[in-house]
Amino acid sequence: MRFAEVPIEVNFPALERDVLARWTRERTFEESIARRRGCPDYVFYDGPPFATGLPHYGHILTSYIKDVVPRYFTMRGRHVPRRWGWDCHGLPVEFEIEKRLGLADRKQIVEYGIDRFNAACKASVLEFAGEWRAIIGRLGRWVDFDHDYKTMDKSYMESVVWVFKELHRRGLIYLGNKVVPYCTRCQTTLSNFEARMDDATRPRQDPAITVRFRSDDEADEYFLAWTTTPWTLPSNVALAVGPDIDYVLAEKDGARYWIAEARAAVYGLKGEKRAKGRDLAGRRYRPLLPYFTETPNAFRVLTGDFVTAEDGTGIVHMAPAFGEDDNALCKANQIEGPNPVKDDGTFDPTVTDFAGKHVFEANPSIIHKLKEQGALFRRETYDHNYPHCWRCDSPLIYRAISTWFVEVTKFKQRMIAANQKIRWVPEHVRDGLFGNWLENARDWAISRNRFWGAPIPVWQCAQCKTIEVIGGSEDIKRLTGKEVEDWHRPAIDEITWPCKCGGTMARVPDVLDCWFESGSMPYAQVHYPFEHKREFEATFPGDFIVEYVAQTRGWFYTLVVLAAALFDERPFKDVVCHGVILAEDGRKMSKRLKNYPDPMEVVERHGSDALRVALLSSAVLRGADIRFSESSVRDAVRRLCIPLWNSLHYFTAYARIDGFEPEVNFMFPSPTRLDRYLLSEAERLRAGVGEAMARWDFAGSYDLIEEFITMLSTWYIRLNKQRLWRHGVDDDKRHAYHALYLALTTLARVAAPFLPFLMESVHAALGGGESVHLADWPEASPWRDEGISDEMRALRTVVRLARSVREEHKVKHRHPLRSVAIAGLPDDVIAANHDLLREELNVKDVVAVAHPEEAVAPQVKLDYTRLGKRLRGDVKKVQAAVDAGDYRIVDGRLAAAGHLLDAEDFSFRYVARGEGMGVAAEGNLVVVLDLASTPELVAEAQMRDLNRGLQDLRKKARLGYSDRVEIFIDSPALAAVVATHKDWLMEQVLAVAIREQPIAAPLAVEEIEVGDEKVTIALVRAA
Ligand SMILES: [Zn+2]
Ligand SMILES: [Zn+2]
Repeated sequence: MRFAEVPIEVNFPALERDVLARWTRERTFEESIARRRGCPDYVFYDGPPFATGLPHYGHILTSYIKDVVPRYFTMRGRHVPRRWGWDCHGLPVEFEIEKRLGLADRKQIVEYGIDRFNAACKASVLEFAGEWRAIIGRLGRWVDFDHDYKTMDKSYMESVVWVFKELHRRGLIYLGNKVVPYCTRCQTTLSNFEARMDDATRPRQDPAITVRFRSDDEADEYFLAWTTTPWTLPSNVALAVGPDIDYVLAEKDGARYWIAEARAAVYGLKGEKRAKGRDLAGRRYRPLLPYFTETPNAFRVLTGDFVTAEDGTGIVHMAPAFGEDDNALCKANQIEGPNPVKDDGTFDPTVTDFAGKHVFEANPSIIHKLKEQGALFRRETYDHNYPHCWRCDSPLIYRAISTWFVEVTKFKQRMIAANQKIRWVPEHVRDGLFGNWLENARDWAISRNRFWGAPIPVWQCAQCKTIEVIGGSEDIKRLTGKEVEDWHRPAIDEITWPCKCGGTMARVPDVLDCWFESGSMPYAQVHYPFEHKREFEATFPGDFIVEYVAQTRGWFYTLVVLAAALFDERPFKDVVCHGVILAEDGRKMSKRLKNYPDPMEVVERHGSDALRVALLSSAVLRGADIRFSESSVRDAVRRLCIPLWNSLHYFTAYARIDGFEPEVNFMFPSPTRLDRYLLSEAERLRAGVGEAMARWDFAGSYDLIEEFITMLSTWYIRLNKQRLWRHGVDDDKRHAYHALYLALTTLARVAAPFLPFLMESVHAALGGGESVHLADWPEASPWRDEGISDEMRALRTVVRLARSVREEHKVKHRHPLRSVAIAGLPDDVIAANHDLLREELNVKDVVAVAHPEEAVAPQVKLDYTRLGKRLRGDVKKVQAAVDAGDYRIVDGRLAAAGHLLDAEDFSFRYVARGEGMGVAAEGNLVVVLDLASTPELVAEAQMRDLNRGLQDLRKKARLGYSDRVEIFIDSPALAAVVATHKDWLMEQVLAVAIREQPIAAPLAVEEIEVGDEKVTIALVRAA
């Protein structure tokens, strides 16, 4: 038998486990790649996760996409190798290990030993790798874990080192002393994009103080400056004013204060004398605090374009070691500012009063001291979004530090040009979020004063300062004759060689920003250029990449930076940015709050395919944030999985009974319109999903699949039950079988990437042989028939409208009615579908009416409160025109008596002309049901109720479709009716007899409602 026995009841998670076992047994994944060897490559870049924790919904979402896309392109004839990757380096790991080893800071790490520390990092990074593999595998994602790459692999690190050297060779690397975001706890710089990632800023309350700087030239004259970082005041060496800003000199309590005119009122000051900022330039003031009074050229008023009068006082205090603008302005004015803050964030001994105190802790004491000496003018608190370290959550400071930079500003235009060639989904990200980010790109601080990472491959002679940049192990071998055993610290630091000057070349101790390593991924994962040179060059840029939208400031960005610098290219062609999956309560998913269900428990309850549907058909793939709830997964089971399974069950059950075998050369098209419709829709599904995937519309693909399954189960199969129920196989039945078989096999292949488990089962049950994932995507078929698709869509609307009429008037569908009148369907369509409509609407007669007015009266109600104001006296004219039928409705608006009324100005509906009629309309379709009843119709309704009850009873008794039964109906009131319709009923329920006495040991018994009557029915298998 070609077709498998498909049980009506199914446990989807168990079914998925069977499929997984089959994939493992048959090595289906490996086979799917091997079969495409030699075909054009499809390359997607996989953002590697850290294995320091377990996957969350965000990982699961991208994993599903990273599975759908490769499966799809494999079926479409591409070779799609998929290697898993692990992110291993960087602060996240170091931070975790510090906590575990109880190390408080850098110093303790060095004392503990960099080798032991890094060994601990290395041992921890793959701690959860096994769990990841199990979870990703259970989701059905096909990816090669056996040949994974790790950013800590020797080969990976060598490529990273090569990238650095290439940039250096092109003059794009420099060592600068710049103010950069800095974490005093991790004691390292962060890049400006790390400080601006979406999870990096959070509300913080800081003191905001206004201090007065005493003028050196005029007695009792002061400059007011405002700051939220009082700890920078000991390092003050200048004040800045905006050259074109108006300042006033205001008097208060015997002293006079310079302040921006626009800000004076905020301080309750009123100025008499006015000056432009440029007129104040050059004025001298007395140092606020006594630590750096000898600084040359300092304590002057300078002009800076960055100064605004939007907040504070319009006068900005300058501490060049702690502000980017401060640094630039003071440098330009030959002021070398002090940097009295140590790496750990404490003051050094030069700031005698606060030495050893962390800057944030020193704030209150500094304020106190200023108050004591009369310099504090006002004190407030300030709530702002302040950058925090994305790993350890400490507030960052901005601090001048010697750092290696990639000179991004030098090739920014090339990045912008490369970005124009990238296709973004959603499209607006290209010129919006990402485009703006590129426009404002700054040089990238890439050195980290840390331990666990790829080394900055720069060796320097302490004596003559010569530097040598290394681009791979060959370089080291040439210089030292030694092999590189390990690119990690401290091994790499032990490699030194004599300098020409007699000194020693030693590595600068920093490691690289781990974002530099992930940005190098396209090259490093294949060990380019040391290996796979040709393969890489043939497949770069990559075809596809997907991550969450904040990676525009992370991975997407660093990939673009390095690709533009190295190859003057975009790194990837297409990118999908998704939103964030929030908990059902709208908050971030939080382990502590337990506000979300464990993903693997969800999978074990409903199946991975259902979770896949729920996530990928949501708005999250259109860049929006979504709230996840388990009900969306349950919904997916109900909407897609169960109807599909029922359809499959139904088809295979009958096909088995009839021993149906599909014939290759069967005669198409079918004379039956429904068959042609089914196949037309199958082709529409195939083409539609192809088009949706071409624009990365995952939700659109799932919509089409769902529509098809709904149509299949609630329309085609339901309407064809009588056809397949008949005994024997004739041509008509063969047509139905072929149509169903082709529709299901097409669906299985089209939807295989989207519901990989379920479609594998469908394919197998249909006798598909080897895995559906080894099959080709279906070719275009000649089945598409727009005429019949439109016709059926209209018929489905008519059926829906008729149901709504029955619901409105509380007439059960099983109750037959005398007639229906339909307007809006061509006569020939009604004629061709006469039987279908009679059956579906359960009416004795179907009448076509040319104009709705033949059966119903249009009713227009004007909204007088709205129109009265606007039309005044003309309302009456409009009403008169409407009453006379002298009006038109065009595009939802009503034209009458020279006025055009909006949809809100009136209501329109049809009302039945006669008694006992029900009406529903949509577009140009109007359906009028004759609801009047007759004794014959009542009897028939009773028989249908009985039939339905008995059919349910057959199911309850778990009878096969062809099992014969004997029945008993316990109702004297119905005896006459049953006797009249005996033959019909027995044929319907496959009864060989209707017993007159109760059944002694029935297979099933049930009390049902027949009309208003409660009736007990029972059955037993026929002998
Ligand atoms: Zn930190
Ligand atoms: Zn030297």
